[in-house]
Formats: sequence, structure tokens, C-alpha cells
Amino acid sequence: VAEMGTPTRSVVTTCAYCGVGCSFKAELQGDQLVRMVPWKHGKANRGHSCVKGRFAYGYADHPDRILSPMIRDSIDEPWREVGWKEALSFAAGKMRGLQEKYGQKSIGVITSSRCTNEETYLVQKLARAVFGNNNTDTCARVCHSPTGYGLGQTFGTSAGTQDFDSVEQTDVIIVIGANPTDAHPVFGSRMKKRLREGAKLIVIDPRKIDLVKSAHIAANHHLPLRPGTNVAVVSALAHVIVTEGLADEAYIRERCDWDEYLAYAEFISEDRHSPEETQALTGVPAEELRAAARTFATGGNGAIYYGLGVTEHSQGSTTVMGIANLAMLTGNVGRPGVGVNPLRGQNNVQGSCDMGSFPHELPGYRHVKGQEVRDIFQKTWGVEIDPEPGLRIPNMLDAAVDGTFKGLYCQGEDILQSDPDTKHVSAGLAAMECVIVHDLFLNETANYAHVFLPGSTFLEKDGTFTNAERRINRVREVMAPKADYADWEVTQLLANAMGANWSYSHPSEIMAEIAMTTPSFAGVTYDVLEEKGSVQWPCNEEHPDGTPLMHVDGFVRGKGRFIVTEYVATEEKTGPRFPLLLTTGRILSQYNVGAQTRRTDNSIWHDEDVLEIHPHDAEVRGLTDGQWVRLASRSGETSLRAKVSDRMSPGVVYTTFHHPDTQANVITTDFSDWATNCPEYKVTAVQVSLSNGP
Ligand code: SF4
Repeated sequence: VAEMGTPTRSVVTTCAYCGVGCSFKAELQGDQLVRMVPWKHGKANRGHSCVKGRFAYGYADHPDRILSPMIRDSIDEPWREVGWKEALSFAAGKMRGLQEKYGQKSIGVITSSRCTNEETYLVQKLARAVFGNNNTDTCARVCHSPTGYGLGQTFGTSAGTQDFDSVEQTDVIIVIGANPTDAHPVFGSRMKKRLREGAKLIVIDPRKIDLVKSAHIAANHHLPLRPGTNVAVVSALAHVIVTEGLADEAYIRERCDWDEYLAYAEFISEDRHSPEETQALTGVPAEELRAAARTFATGGNGAIYYGLGVTEHSQGSTTVMGIANLAMLTGNVGRPGVGVNPLRGQNNVQGSCDMGSFPHELPGYRHVKGQEVRDIFQKTWGVEIDPEPGLRIPNMLDAAVDGTFKGLYCQGEDILQSDPDTKHVSAGLAAMECVIVHDLFLNETANYAHVFLPGSTFLEKDGTFTNAERRINRVREVMAPKADYADWEVTQLLANAMGANWSYSHPSEIMAEIAMTTPSFAGVTYDVLEEKGSVQWPCNEEHPDGTPLMHVDGFVRGKGRFIVTEYVATEEKTGPRFPLLLTTGRILSQYNVGAQTRRTDNSIWHDEDVLEIHPHDAEVRGLTDGQWVRLASRSGETSLRAKVSDRMSPGVVYTTFHHPDTQANVITTDFSDWATNCPEYKVTAVQVSLSNGP
């Protein structure tokens, strides 16, 4: 794909990178894509875009793409290119054989948050209706699963409360564990505009992200906490609000469970949550904690935006619930300009969770144990559904090592590169007897695969993505699938090769089934999306135009629920051998493990992961800018260049994970969120020393 020529036709579609979900006009000359133009009618982006959506599509034509199915009997053998029929029959035979030999629950699926809603729905249906078990999980497991749990428990639904437009009416913005100007650039720009107009800003982050001091903006409060202490900081803010009489008790009486609030208020008023006690734990000055709490409670409309710096911790779910407590305490849920807003990393994390990819939930966040819910799907699918939750990704890998989990269909996800504890992932994959990788490239996971099924890029897809504000956007086919079949068709072919009788002829028919079975999507059809451009769920008889703001007349669960959030220190400790804490993040020009952006021919992508380190920490190690360093943890080690930076707090180092050579997940621990198993990527005790290079 090259940027050239005069377009002769165009197709409006949605960016497949981050959770902002920008709309683009793909302009073509015949079948050749010549440029991506940000679409001015796109409701999430209004004609704006970032460098990834605008330019990073060349990977669709990259020679690394695999366009023919391949099979092999063992991972020691070379791949054999075969036709689709042979590959699918081989895969189906292997998977059925494993079930006969090891039992119905010995196989499962992993779905990707970069796939469409329709593709994701079909993959979880493959597990439930064809494999006959609930062994389905999504890569959201390793990013926003604590959001699903935490907001579900407190508000009753696992999604952000606001639309992006809401930021225009916000007076005080808290950004915690997120870096919107790099990771969600188009929304980050809207946030900066509001800040330039005078909104106040509280940044809770170990690092001085751009928002702390960018052009024309300076955060009113930067709370540079020690990684792993989010719960303590959020509790200290709540402590000040409650003990200084700043809680919005009228709102709480009307909207929340009063008795639960009283129990929470008693807990949070204890001295151990005071700013003075918290300073010792977190490193944040007590006066800053006190001042930030007062600003948030008294500054008008307050909104909280958070990212993976909140969720990827052993207390990720607890922090999400603490954030929800903070919003309810101050009456900041249920009207424009306020709310709790998870900034979703990948394009369709929201949709992936909505579509029932988790092993305990059917589409629409309904537990598989619920007989009424199972009845809906049993009637629609014509099969019995297992009432027992299935295995999460880490449990699948554990079971594989133990010899009870034997087969995996993995669509669009490179678990060997993106999941924690690389050694354990490779051991799990190596122990399986059939790994089916359905992807664009021969990724790291494919080293352990027996079947490779070529995938399609977003340019070759028809369907929908759901962005971070619950907006369902159309994804339209810009060019025919290069490997003959779109991803949803491949899943259907595999299901049918295993004995199903699916007959979808277009993704709109899959959406019709989603609407029929899932109340929050009941009013979503491709005709509605064509007419309105996009809609935000819930979209149904009650909300025919969709729902920009949630919890307006009451929380989805009825009364908002305050949950006591006890701080428990992570098990990952610094010590003499590993005295620094490593945390990780993204840069604007790259995307996750870089599978797409690194395969786009543009000089801006040719960067490397570096280790940011505070000048003092560099000096005591004799390090200067640009030198190679050895980064070692209890789990493993790697080499990268140092970048001496006063963005960092002393004692904390930072890197990105866009390049496979960095092997950031060789370094990270196997600790995870207590409720969801989301890995604790954001806290690793490390040592940094001079090295001679890789
Ligand atoms: Fe794509 Fe996100 Fe950039 Fe928009 S902000 S163009 S959705 S990567």
C-alpha cells in the first residue's frame, strides 16, 4: 500500500489501533489504497486523527503476511502449505480427536480485542456451542479485566460512564495510570483543549507524563506515587473528602446504598488512610494528597480517566472500585462532565468484553450459571450450554502444563509475546497437541502451532468495533480478503468442519443474532448504524438512539455500591539485589508489540525501546544517556539503551514493549490481580547496570 495517486472511490471505516475508534475515509484508486483521510463526520474524532491511524496501514501489504494455510504434525517439522479445505479438516480432526481422548474440556479458544464484535461473538460461540465448554478468554484478560469486575461490582455494568464529548463540560480531570496524549492521542487532544480552557488537572502517575507539563498546560497536582500503591493514594483522597465533610451526602443518600456508605465512611476515616500515613507508603507528599482531594471535591464537575496503570496490578480491581467510590463520594456519576472512564488500549477491548469472551459470562455480561440466560442462547443455538465457567488464559496454560488442556484456537493474539511469564507460556504451548494460530504473520506463538490459518487486516473486514465510550462503529471492507476468507468466515468454516451447521452469509446476520440475544444491543442493526453513523450501547427499545451517558436516573445495579478497598502491598518487593521498580507503557508512534506498526514503511516507526531512568539513579550507576544497560529482575534479563530523564521519580525506571528484542515480559513477574488474574505488568523489582550491548 502506498500513499500515491488520485482516488477514484472511498470507503468509510474505523481505525483498528486504539480505543478512541476514529473514523476514516479510505481512498482508493481502483483496488489500490492511496490514503486514509480522517473523516469529519466521525463522532469519536470529528476529522482528527493521530499518526498511527493516518499512516500505519502498510502492514496490510507486508511480505511477512502469510496468505496460505499451513499445517504440520509436530512443531519440529517444517510447515506444509495446503488448501483451506485440508487445513480446516486437519484442524477439526485434531481438535475432535483431543476431545475424544482427553475430554470435552481439554480444548479452548482465545479471542483478540483487535477483531470485530461479530468475529469475537463467533469465536466464543465456537467454544460454547461446538466445543461444548466455556473455555473462552480474550486478551482483555491482560489489560482491562479489572475494569469489568470493578465497575460491574460498584455500578452494575462493565463500561465507562460517559461519552468523549462529556470532557467539554468537565471542571476537574483526574488522570490516573494513563497517558492519553501517547496512547489515546485524539481524545488526549480534546482533554488538552479543555485544560487550556481552564479545567483543573490532577495526574496520579509515577512518571511526569506529557500532561504534567506540556505546552500551555501544567497539572495543578502531580502525585508521583510509588508503583503498586494506587489503592493507598485513592483511599487517601477519599479519606480527606470524608473527614473534611466534603462528601456529597445528598447525592449518596439518593443514589447509593446508604448503609454501605456508612460502613465505607467509617473504614476510610481511620487514621491509617490519612495523607500523612499514606505519604510513607506511596512517596506522595501529604500536603499534595490533601490539596488534590480538595480540588476534586470542590472544583465542580469531576471526571476520572484511567488506563492500564490502574488495572495491571495485583490490586487492579480494588483500584477500579476505589475510583468508583471516589466518583460516588463526590456525586460525580450520572450527568455530563463527570464520570469514570476507562481508556481502553486496543480498538475493540470494549466489544471483546461485551461479546461474552470471558469464561464466566455470556454476551452482555451475564453469568453462565444463570438458567434464564443460558435458555436464550440454548434456544438460539440449538445446543446445551455448560453452566460451569471455563478456564481463563493463565488457567489454560497451567492445565496444559499439568497435561489436561491439549488444544487451542487462538485468533489474532500473540500470547507468547504479550502475556506474562514467557517461560510458562512457552511451556504451556509446547505441552499442547494442537495449537491453531489464526493471524496475519507467523508470530511468536506460531512457533508452537500445528495449524496456521491466515487472518485478515481491518481493511479486509466487515463488521463493527466498539470504542471506549461504548460507541459501535462500522468497519467496512476496503479491499477483498487477501487470503480468500474474512476471519468470521474462517471461524464458521472451522465450526462446520467440526460438525456445526452455521450459515451466516454476512456479518450483519451475526449482529442480528447478537441483537436478538443481548438486551443492550437489541436495537443495533447495520441499517441503524448506516442511518445514525454509530450508536452507543445500550441501544434498545428504551434507548433507540443509544446511550451517551450511563446511570443518569440511577445506577444500572439499582443503588451505587461503596466497597471497602483495603490496600495490600504487592508481593513484588525491592531489595539489595533489585532496588528499582520497573513500570511500562506505550509511545505514540507504536502499537502494543508492534506487529503492525513495525511493518509499516515509514522512518517514524524505526525507534527502539529504551529504559528511562532518573538522573540520580543513572549517576550512582555511572550511566549516561544512550549507553547499553542490563535490566535484570528475579524472572529474567534483557538489554536496552538508557535514557536519562527527569520525567522519572527516583527509584523508578520505565520502558515500552513495542519491540520483540526487548522481551519486556521475560522481566515481569507472574503476580496478578486477585479478582481477574490480570497480570501485574506495572511493578517489577529490577537492577540496572552497564552492559556491552545485546
Ligand atoms: Fe487510531 Fe486511536 Fe489514533 Fe484515532 S487516536 S487514529 S483510533 S490510534
